[in-house]
Amino acid sequence: MTAVKDLYDKIVDCPVCDEQFTTKKVRTSRLRLVKRDEDFLNHYKTENPIKYHIFVCPNCGYASWENKFDSIRKNQVKTIKDKVSSKWNKRDFGGERDLDKAIEAYKLALLVGMLLETTKFELGNTCLNIGWLYRLKGEEDEEIRFLTLARDRFIEAFNTESLTGVNMDESKLSYLIGELSRRINDKEKALSWFNTCLNLPSTRMNPAIDDLAREQWRIAKEMGNNG
Ligand SMILES: [Zn+2]
Repeated sequence: MTAVKDLYDKIVDCPVCDEQFTTKKVRTSRLRLVKRDEDFLNHYKTENPIKYHIFVCPNCGYASWENKFDSIRKNQVKTIKDKVSSKWNKRDFGGERDLDKAIEAYKLALLVGMLLETTKFELGNTCLNIGWLYRLKGEEDEEIRFLTLARDRFIEAFNTESLTGVNMDESKLSYLIGELSRRINDKEKALSWFNTCLNLPSTRMNPAIDDLAREQWRIAKEMGNNG
């Protein structure tokens, strides 16, 4: 249950159509963490801030992560106008979002991310958040579908991209690929990615990840082989 005072309005200028709109954000001072899943989804007693991390312009349909909403380039603006805005049915994401509305916002950001050929890491992270929202909603088939998409993008990111500038290092990402593999019942890849993580020198510098990788490796090892 959301108390109105958990949220506040932020005014945003759209870099695609130059209109102004408002979007909700969660007051971090009001967050009450209940638990954290092993793939890093935080559960809160209060509103979950992941529902509001995507800004969506109600006027033109441009949608992106809050922290990079402004960083669209001139030539990309044309792509969004041609491929998104031209077909956009105007609708507003600026009110309180239920899980379906939050999922819709992330799916728009996923479309924009694919059109603009953003990093595999970002596409993976967007898919991961969609998977989490389906988990919060209790829709397991859709959760698994998006965790699989996330896992596959993260493998591409691990193999081909630099992780500078994102809140993730090789150690944490290889662990996460292992854990997502475990959750989608891919035992072989789960064990192999937990091993990758445990063999990285950087993991030894990060005892929290080291412990998690050992524990989840043990749980994966006990899985059936028919996954
Ligand atoms: Zn706009």
